Amino acid sequence: MREFSGIPAAPGYAVGPVRQFRRAQVRIQRRSIGPDEVAGERDRFEAAVAHARRELTELRDKLARELGHDEAAILDSQLLMLEDELVWDATLSRIRTQLVNAEAAFAKAIADIVLQFNGLQEQSLRERIADLRDLEDRVQRAFLNETAVAEPPWTEAAVVAARDLVPSETAALDRDLVLGFVTDEGGSTSHVAILARSLGIPAVCGLGGVASQLPAGTTVAVDGNVGRLIAEPDPETRDRLLTLKQQQITVSRKLDYLRDLPAETPDGRRVRMATNIELPVELDEALARGAEGVGLLRTEYLYFQHRDIPSEEDQVKLYTRVVQRLAGRPVVFRTLDVGGDKVSDYLGAKREYNPFLGWRGIRFSLSNLGLFKTQIRAVYRAGAAGPAHLMFPMITGVEELRAALAICEEARAELQREGRPYAADMPVGIMVETPSAAAVADLLARECAFMSIGSNDLIQYTLAMDRGNRRVSYLYRPLHPAILRAIRHVVDAGHAAGIWVGLCGEMGSETRLAEVLLGLGLDEISMHSAALPKIKQVIRWTAFSEARRVVDTLLELATADETDAWLAAYVAERKRSREPGETAS
Ligand code: PEP
Ligand code: MG
Repeated sequence: MREFSGIPAAPGYAVGPVRQFRRAQVRIQRRSIGPDEVAGERDRFEAAVAHARRELTELRDKLARELGHDEAAILDSQLLMLEDELVWDATLSRIRTQLVNAEAAFAKAIADIVLQFNGLQEQSLRERIADLRDLEDRVQRAFLNETAVAEPPWTEAAVVAARDLVPSETAALDRDLVLGFVTDEGGSTSHVAILARSLGIPAVCGLGGVASQLPAGTTVAVDGNVGRLIAEPDPETRDRLLTLKQQQITVSRKLDYLRDLPAETPDGRRVRMATNIELPVELDEALARGAEGVGLLRTEYLYFQHRDIPSEEDQVKLYTRVVQRLAGRPVVFRTLDVGGDKVSDYLGAKREYNPFLGWRGIRFSLSNLGLFKTQIRAVYRAGAAGPAHLMFPMITGVEELRAALAICEEARAELQREGRPYAADMPVGIMVETPSAAAVADLLARECAFMSIGSNDLIQYTLAMDRGNRRVSYLYRPLHPAILRAIRHVVDAGHAAGIWVGLCGEMGSETRLAEVLLGLGLDEISMHSAALPKIKQVIRWTAFSEARRVVDTLLELATADETDAWLAAYVAERKRSREPGETAS
């Protein structure tokens, strides 16, 4: 039995065999050939290039249709490289003169060109090197296609281990067969963690090399509450974890009585308890736990589940189903937030050097207006079936908001002309998740219908800590004075403008912070649904006036250590002195 500590990313317990998740990597075998095989290898090279050309052409046409010609141009340049005489000559002559197989000859031809580009040390060639690598990968896969053996289907429930997982990969896994996640990289607000929490699957991130090295089939125990991975647990540990799992289910059942009760403080302050959803399958559970609506629907996950960009009609159907299932409760559809750690190949959002500061969220949408307007039209149309809201991610200032609102206006005018039913007065709001948006929240609040604070990104950007990097995960401090001040400022700015302000980052799911969020004056807290009953319980126990005093005290403190320590002592004291009017957890 060996124990490893990581970052507790999603609560819960699991015991089961490991299944390694590896991004398919192409391994190139160098093989000597006889002179009589030269012609055959040349044919193989030509066939692989033809295959890659077909794939690239199809992809380029699809991108041109769905995203526009500028995006498709990336692939044009790869297509040109594919025909480059330098590549052909170098590959074919190496097959002929050095008598090696086509894969190895091609790999060396590309490596030589990359070396030349590196030698020139021109910044502008970096992009071309990435393109060349992409191209090499595609052609090498084309070689493999001739002999590739399909992975056996996955039939046994397992703990998925990986170096890291991106949301498109996580969303594509069969949920019923995933007992838990363990990853080398990632932190508590990385998207694999968020999705795991939403799906109720325990996860431990930041295991630094341990997860990806576990041999497939090894039995492991996962404790997502404290962030521990135990390889080959002894029978006692196994039983303890399975008992804890059972107890967790019992505790959460004890809170079932709260489902239909309002999240209202004894002195009459009401907070809307909403839930964050990535996939519609989460809705039933969220409603069973008493969600009063969906405060954040991360629509990018719906896209990731499809191989192609869903058409407007498909999106209308999907969104309408969500609206109908909510039966009159509001839902906030956030427009696509690709980029950052949410990369999807078919959307053309490429891996970047600084992805979280790159082509992400509203920036991606505003440079893909066709795609953006299609989504907006679909949400307006779904809004005809019930109370829907539209929300833009990653806004940094009023210019972006105005540009996005202009597309909404166009969409409404089109729908009107076409005589389709749509929600003409649908509220349109923004996420406040960049320091710049927080700073100008008063200006933004004048031009939108609501604001929802994305604390995951607000913390990441304000405290300059990459939310997916385990080495800096210790800097994730929701009670940092800079964060408390930012939230207070945003809430006050929203209220001064007469609009509601919510919070939909993971901070909203932390029981210890519920009283603080109440005291900060938030009108809505949107969280993963498993957290909802406990947060509601705290709000029902706490006087608003008391919560405001707590916040006033916290705002006087100078460091995150001081705020954390003060709150911990305060919560402990309250637990001791609380009158147990309702069942304690
Ligand atoms: C956030 O940043 O807090 C948020 C809710 O959005 P996401 O986690 O999808 O970036
Ligand atoms: Mg965000």
